[in-house]
Parts: sequence; C-alpha cells; structure tokens
Amino acid sequence: MLKHPSYICILLLSITLPLLLGCQTTQSASPSPQVKKPTTYAPKHQDPIPLLVYHHFCETEAGVVSGATRTIANFKIDMQYLHQQGYTAVSYQDVMNHYDNNSPLPPKPYVMRFDDGYLSNYTLAFPVMQQYNAKATICVIGVHVGKSKNVIPRFTWAQAREMIDSGLISIQSHTYDLHKADPLGVTRLENESLADYKTRLKNDFTKVNTLIEQNLGYKPYLLAFPNRVCNPAAQQVAEDSGYTFTTARLETIPQQTSNQKYNLKRYSIFSNSKLSDLLK
Ligand SMILES: [Zn+2]
Repeated sequence: MLKHPSYICILLLSITLPLLLGCQTTQSASPSPQVKKPTTYAPKHQDPIPLLVYHHFCETEAGVVSGATRTIANFKIDMQYLHQQGYTAVSYQDVMNHYDNNSPLPPKPYVMRFDDGYLSNYTLAFPVMQQYNAKATICVIGVHVGKSKNVIPRFTWAQAREMIDSGLISIQSHTYDLHKADPLGVTRLENESLADYKTRLKNDFTKVNTLIEQNLGYKPYLLAFPNRVCNPAAQQVAEDSGYTFTTARLETIPQQTSNQKYNLKRYSIFSNSKLSDLLK
C-alpha cells in the first residue's frame, strides 16, 4: 500500500511532467493555442471631414442678396476644385455609418449642406451636383417649403422629391417655424416654463418631421438648429423627437456636438469665400 501522500504526488508528476513537457515541445512547432483576437476593422478616418455649408445661389453678382449668397459660377469653381483635389461628397448618414458601423469612406470625403431650402438649390445647384454626381443634404424650414411671396423663393415638395429621386440629395430638418430672430431660433421665451418650452419645441419638431414623412416618405434624422443656437433642453427634445444628428454652434451646446462626435469641420461658404484657401 502506498501510504505517503507525497509518494503519490511524485508518482503523478513523474507521469504527467514528461507528457506536459512533451506536449509543449510538440506544440511549439504547431500554431499556438487560439487566442481570440479582437475583430479588426478598417481604420477610422483620421483627418477632420470638411463640412461645407451653403445657402442661396444666384446667376450673377447682381443677384447677391446677402453675404451668404453664392454665385453659381463660384459654386462651379468650388465643385471643380473639389473634384480636381480628389474629394468625394458623402452624406451625413455615410459619415455616421463609418464611425458607428465601420462602413468605409472614400479617402478624401467631404459633406455638403444647403440651409433653408431655397429654390435656387433646385434650379441652380442641383444640376451641378448631378454633373459631378455629388451628394448634398438640404435642411428645410417646414413652413417655408414652396413659398415665394415676401421671401427668397423656396422649392416645393415636388421639387424636393425630384432631387431625392436622383439619389444625391437628402432633405432634412431646419425646424418647422423656429427660424426667427425673436426669439432667436430655439431660445426659450422670457417667463416660459421649462415644460411649456419643451412642449413648444416638441410640437414644432413633430410638425416638420410629419411634413417630411408625408411628402418624402421618411423621417428626418438630422436637425440643423436655426441660427446655430441650442441648449441642453432643446438638445434633449431633439433627441426625443428622433434626431440622431444635431448641428449648432459649439458654445451653445455644453456637451459634445454631433459635428465633434463625427469628426466634421464646418466651413460656412460666403459670397467671397475661396474654397482653395479654406481647405488647404
Ligand atoms: Zn438657416
């Protein structure tokens, strides 16, 4: 009888040790045990992605109505420059898909946006976008769509549909009717309770979302806050209203903005802007 426990240990070791060592020796020649490697993804785009924001376009210098009006001749120069420099227009959704879901982006992406929904986006800029097969996002003010009296004319829902059908244009939200100077954009009114304020914004966002859905068949995901003014309560209502991308001036949103999150660097394009200077 083997009574001493240490004898058993030695016996076991004498059997298992050569096996273990042998095992190690033979294993070293074959692939090492499978360690689960983290899934490798295509590297994320590193440089900030230029976001070019335009407004109204005109045919000649005589048609310039504000600092934000761009002659179509200058817009064509912009598009030619981007094309020559190897830039490719991508949508906001493409950018979000890249950072959220690892879908690829072209090497030199940029995002183009037209604000306020001017008819000139349709008559002047859209044909150029088609020529270059370039994507753009247009943020419309719901109440103004199709209007031409007492305002710079805006395109209609039918024209919006035609642009969407090209596969190049996405129509998104610039609120239903909050694009005003007093109060400025989504600024809370004096003596307005927080609850009333949130309800007012919610009603506005719901109205424009419904209009877009009824006329274009989808819910917008992007809200460009008018006058680039925002605050935490407005941001919360926007998120609750289904917007996954919001844009506003950084100082007005205490938390990280969508532009930062998605690595976009905004450039407002004015009448006299020179893209080659801005993007060099
Ligand atoms: Zn605007």
